[in-house]
Amino acid sequence: AGALLEDPGLHISVAVDLTERKQAEEALRAADRRKDEFLATLAHELRNPLAPIRSGLELLAQPGLDAPTAARARAILERQVSHMVRLVDDLLDVSRISHGQVPLRRSRVALAGVLHGALETSRPALEAAGHALVLELPPQPLWVDGDEVRLAQVFANLLNNAARYTPRGGTVRLSLVAEGRQAVVRVQDDGEGIPGHMLGRVFDLFVQVEPSPQRQGGLGLGLALVRNLVQMHGGEVRADSAGPGHGSVFTVRLPLAPGAAAALPAPAAAS
Ligand code: ADP
Repeated sequence: AGALLEDPGLHISVAVDLTERKQAEEALRAADRRKDEFLATLAHELRNPLAPIRSGLELLAQPGLDAPTAARARAILERQVSHMVRLVDDLLDVSRISHGQVPLRRSRVALAGVLHGALETSRPALEAAGHALVLELPPQPLWVDGDEVRLAQVFANLLNNAARYTPRGGTVRLSLVAEGRQAVVRVQDDGEGIPGHMLGRVFDLFVQVEPSPQRQGGLGLGLALVRNLVQMHGGEVRADSAGPGHGSVFTVRLPLAPGAAAALPAPAAAS
């Protein structure tokens, strides 16, 4: 009788195993598809700059080259090579971060300075797209304990995305406020926006809302890097959007440095 009683349980556990295995297999297949898409995108992204690089080199090789043409050729080479360097750096970063090999060089940093640094990096992209930039900083300095270079990378990534995913002549807003014991940085654009079902997923590795080789995008690495770096700083990041065509807001919350936070006046209205 004991064996009979155990039987149903046995069947159930076999059934559960099968469902779990099916789910695991489906997850593996989805991961495989993402990897394939990623490799295709990677190949295109690395291939794309090569044609302009070749024509830049051909320009430079012209006999009797005049100075303006030489300058134009050098500008093309500079831009395209920087783009490739950024891609490869991101790839290396993602691989190092996922192996926990990115040490933070922490110090007490003023976030306004970090934001100015990020803006310096992103200004060419914002200007090239003819976007207006609105910068809103609080009157008092806000301090965090963190890696100045990595934090600037976080905000430069968000600003570059805002520049890329907003049609020409948009407005990009960068703001910093203190809310309670947190510093809150928002990067807001009035561009493409993000569909609701993708808001939680855009931070996953290799995820792009509309992957396409023609798209002026990257590799789906940037936001994964952003989330990793923000979490390494004890913070969090989220994306909000009222949907396609209605712009996006990326909100980064970082813990204010302990001593420095105490010196702040109590927030009037922490939302
Ligand atoms: P990449 O930009 O290289 O594709 P990211 O990880 O930076 O990779 O972004 C992932 C995806 O999230 C992008 O492909 C894009 O579809 C979407 N996205 C990111 N930032 C924005 C933004 N500001 N507005 C609209 N979509 C965005």
